[in-house]
Amino acid sequence: MSEDGLKKIISHAKEYGFVFPSSEIYDGLSAAYDYGQLGSELKNNIKQYWWTAMVRMNENIVGIDAAIFMHPTTWKASGHVDAFNDPLIDNKDSKKRYRADVLIEEHIAKIEAKINKDVTKAKKRFGDDFDEAQFRSTNPQVLRRQGDIDGINARFKAAMDAEDLAAVKTLIEDLGITCPVSGSKNWTDVRQFNLMFKTELGAVSGDSGVVYLRPETAQGIFVNYLNVQKSGRMKLPFGIAQIGKAFRNEIIARQFIFRMREFEQMEMQFFIKPGTQEEWYNHWKEARIKWHKALGLGEENYRFHDHVKLAHYADAACDIEFNFPMGFKELEGIHSRTDFDLKQHEEFSNKKLRYFDPETQESYVPYVLETSIGLDRMFLAVLSSALREETLEDGSTRTVMSIPFALAPVKAAVLPLIKKDGLPEKAREILAQLQLHHNVQYDEKDAIGRRYRRQDAIGTPLCITVDHDTLEDHAVTVRNRDTMKQERIAIADLTAYVDGLVSMASLLQA
Ligand code: ATP
Repeated sequence: MSEDGLKKIISHAKEYGFVFPSSEIYDGLSAAYDYGQLGSELKNNIKQYWWTAMVRMNENIVGIDAAIFMHPTTWKASGHVDAFNDPLIDNKDSKKRYRADVLIEEHIAKIEAKINKDVTKAKKRFGDDFDEAQFRSTNPQVLRRQGDIDGINARFKAAMDAEDLAAVKTLIEDLGITCPVSGSKNWTDVRQFNLMFKTELGAVSGDSGVVYLRPETAQGIFVNYLNVQKSGRMKLPFGIAQIGKAFRNEIIARQFIFRMREFEQMEMQFFIKPGTQEEWYNHWKEARIKWHKALGLGEENYRFHDHVKLAHYADAACDIEFNFPMGFKELEGIHSRTDFDLKQHEEFSNKKLRYFDPETQESYVPYVLETSIGLDRMFLAVLSSALREETLEDGSTRTVMSIPFALAPVKAAVLPLIKKDGLPEKAREILAQLQLHHNVQYDEKDAIGRRYRRQDAIGTPLCITVDHDTLEDHAVTVRNRDTMKQERIAIADLTAYVDGLVSMASLLQA
């Protein structure tokens, strides 16, 4: 899918009540979005899928819900006040602002695309005999391009490590990067820009009243490490999970809900014994990719990307990238955070944040492994892999959202064939029975075919039709969204039948 594909998703999401631009009657607010009646259902289902897999199914992981406002010293200790910056650069002609690191990444992506083109060409030429790994490691053109990429990465890393922003600018100039809007190379100097939103607490003015909107949920977990460990009598290794809002004053927020200034994270910090971080890093990489793949959005749509430039707190880090309409981009991060955060909080709070290991009789600051996924990006991943136009056997077309059944906002629609003869009453009886378990809709308007299409467009897995025979045989016709096959099911078996198809259990057992 392309950028054009993203436009289709945005308009479909708005038309059917998934996502609206925020405060649209005032022409919207850039990079803020509201989830509509179906969007909030889908979002809740994604949260439930994550929470069940992470918290309910792991004996040693518990969940919390910390406040968005935290003591400002939290952000001094975590390094966000001093270092949560993006390098920013402006083009003097277009007056457009960019992230310097993103300009460089995009330049690298172009070289990668050229390598992939070389590979595709060679594949065609050599046919079945083609050995891609060998080609990549021996072809002079590919090696030269790869050398260019490595060189750029090394220069960028060195410049950032040395906090040498002039060197970042020189790199952009040397690479001949132009502004996509003006086409010119007329750049300002690179500056650091802090991404935290600041506000003031209560009636206090001046610096003493400053609080920040949290830029990540993780710190709410770290400051509660000891509370949870003690009150829950937790033994290492154990995890604390949280779902909540985070805020970042992104320099350029675009690409719909992919990059917003207010978004939601689902984070888990796993506290472990120092020295075991590599083992747990691999464990969580595997567990998280499995969670993603169980959804059936297409295994080919995921890949791992190891970080070149590690954050100040990490000793290993990678992203799970998803093939969004605009290409492979970060969906989730897995970070080995060492004891950085807890040690910093010890130092700034003067409180011990240790674990007493009953086996070794030692007391130490645990190491931490983090999994951090953006709920909104997960939502976009689901929408972008689900939306399709299909041509049917009779030549007609339908728009269908093949959202995984367990995540679909509406699980079933109950449809009386006509609006009389007692069919609506029977249909409402069935509705009441199913509503106890799932989000179900009732629809009696228009011809049945049009009602099917409406449900296809919002991704409803099952359409349950109540017809005249229902009154005699106490059975209904159930149509499957994906196969469009119809089955006659006894009303007495309906709840179990629907449950078997749409419950999360099958995903979680995978
Ligand atoms: P990026 O490099 O895309 O800015 P990041 O590396 O800063 O992301 P993390 O700090 O690792 O992101 O945050 C964890 C997760 O939170 C990300 O994997 C992403 O899914 C989500 N996330 C981060 N920033 C945003 C944002 N502005 N809008 C929506 N989701 C976000």
